[in-house]
Amino acid sequence: ADADERLLDTFARLDGLLTVSSSALHQIVVSMASEFRRGLAKDGRSLKMIPSFVTSLPSGQEIDSVLALDLGGSNFRVCQVQLQGHGRVRTTQRKYTVPDRLKEGTGTELFDFFADCVAEFVREHPPAGGSDGHTLGFTFSFPVQQTSINHGTLMHWSKGFTASGVVGVDVVTLLQQAFERKKVKVNVTALVNDTVGTLVAHAYTNPQTYVGVILGTGTNAAYMERLSEVPKWAGGKDGNMIINTEWGAYDAPALPITEFDQALDRASANPKMQIFEKLISGMYLGEIVRIILTSLVASGELFGGRTSPDLNRPYHFETAYMSRIERDHSLELADTMNLFTDLLGISWSTLDDRRIVKHVCQLVGLRAARLSAAGIAAIVTKINCLDGCTVAIDGSLFEQYPHFQSRMRDALYEILGINADNIILEQARDGSGQGAALIALLHRNE
Ligand code: ADP
Repeated sequence: ADADERLLDTFARLDGLLTVSSSALHQIVVSMASEFRRGLAKDGRSLKMIPSFVTSLPSGQEIDSVLALDLGGSNFRVCQVQLQGHGRVRTTQRKYTVPDRLKEGTGTELFDFFADCVAEFVREHPPAGGSDGHTLGFTFSFPVQQTSINHGTLMHWSKGFTASGVVGVDVVTLLQQAFERKKVKVNVTALVNDTVGTLVAHAYTNPQTYVGVILGTGTNAAYMERLSEVPKWAGGKDGNMIINTEWGAYDAPALPITEFDQALDRASANPKMQIFEKLISGMYLGEIVRIILTSLVASGELFGGRTSPDLNRPYHFETAYMSRIERDHSLELADTMNLFTDLLGISWSTLDDRRIVKHVCQLVGLRAARLSAAGIAAIVTKINCLDGCTVAIDGSLFEQYPHFQSRMRDALYEILGINADNIILEQARDGSGQGAALIALLHRNE
């Protein structure tokens, strides 16, 4: 009976720390919408709210073949996107790995490598109709200060890239010059963030799509905004433009930050930055769980107070482990036991230990899903599309984490009530390349 009581105490304490109440969700929605407004008013005060220069969505009737280059991190993809009308798309793609030597070398070598890959891809996949040149959209998932639909300067590198001569320079010019050096006939007509690409690609098949969200390694969102709502935009105020929110940087007292989140942030490569992202995205969820588990071991509540070198190693507990544990519905939590034995070097877990571990995963996963839903609610409230709107969502978390989607949906109901019925959350896959191709096509003649 004593042991049962201790277990219940542990559960209650964790619930208290990690549960996001309905009223907290409401506060976050209000606060986030106001941060959107501040970011739209002026640069440098709040969320970046970057104008994408994309002012229209495709009709779904476009027919053409366009290239896309998608640089996310260590992989990059070259795609040929065939738009076939009636919202149908066919994509042929090839993945390449960027060697570390090139990430850390000179920008010229790096962009020459991209041009070589495109040249090889075009030789393998000559366009039908033998056109004498290609239109290309460039998805570049690094922070870029966009200055036109196909120009933008890199603010700073991340994800292990340090190539020289690129920061502060227009990345499209660098790419275009590499094509010229290599005598590849390609015209780069769009520079696109992956959230913007996801939104546009989904709109091709579903014209009700006004929001694109990434829930993967990181998190971000873009949406279609009225230019009259963007005071900092110096151009004409008629019509609409997709805004890249960079919502991963959202930070406000309304967020349910725990001591565990603070520990993660302090030890991270970018303390005090990307706070919303650190509560939500695939890069961090496993690490939050690991930090909580080590603290429960330290207090003697877990694993009989005995840890392991693997459990003590930062980022060694992957978010995919949480998925596996949440999927373990066996009476003895046998798969969770296997996971701890095989992957974390802990062979002495009791059933109560495993119940605690599963509960921690559920709480951290639930919190992430509810906060993601709050972000989406803030956007759909901001643009007043409660009468019907599709949100395109890409990323492993949304696609693979069990219950993530239904937890988001439940939270949306708590926040929006019956209006949540009109907000459709749809899985988007590999949209960023397709979206870049569509945007390149729509802006080909600018
Ligand atoms: P990216 O965002 O880098 O383009 P993904 O959308 O595939 O790529 O997201 C990768 C992230 O998803 C990683 O942080 C990884 O931890 C997480 N992840 C991978 N598989 C799973 C899974 N089965 N369940 C939950 N998270 C996962």
